[in-house]
Amino acid sequence: MQNLFSPWRLRYITSAGRRPPAGCVFCRVVRARRDRDNLILFRGRDHFVILNRYPYNNGHLMIVASTHLPSLQAAEPAALVEMTELIVRCDRALRKVYRPSGINLGMNLGRSAGAGIAGHYHMHLVPRWDADTNFMTVIHDTRVIPESLLSSWRRLRPLLASGPPPEPPAAPRMRKAARRRRGRGGGRR
Ligand SMILES: [Zn+2]
Repeated sequence: MQNLFSPWRLRYITSAGRRPPAGCVFCRVVRARRDRDNLILFRGRDHFVILNRYPYNNGHLMIVASTHLPSLQAAEPAALVEMTELIVRCDRALRKVYRPSGINLGMNLGRSAGAGIAGHYHMHLVPRWDADTNFMTVIHDTRVIPESLLSSWRRLRPLLASGPPPEPPAAPRMRKAARRRRGRGGGRR
């Protein structure tokens, strides 16, 4: 295979999808405050947790940036800490409700990488069981989801709401302490 370079296309490729679409689904559900209708399970400081309307499995949920941010690079350190805390919280809730034998965890950053709604970075959590893909998926391109989305919402929501709320990260305090130390002569050499 040979490579054909076309550097003049880079501006076009990197500009695609930058403008927030007028009808962004995630912006709409954040504003709507109709969590049951929109299947929102939990609202944090920088993210919300929502059931996927087109799930791969029962309990397929997503941790989504509450503002229109397509990239992790634009997220504040505090938001990244909250994302990790929410992953643990969702993992705990899914294991309690569904007792899966495994959980897939992953992000599709950008439409080219498979993101359905690319304007808000989001993490998928998909519970898995041994042999959970059957002939329907392989032969008919159809998934069998035995539980309704509303039933999943009712079971998961109380578990996600319980437990301590996400804490602001300790990093800024650590930075202040480092500055104090530097002020006392412990600075860079
Ligand atoms: Zn949006």
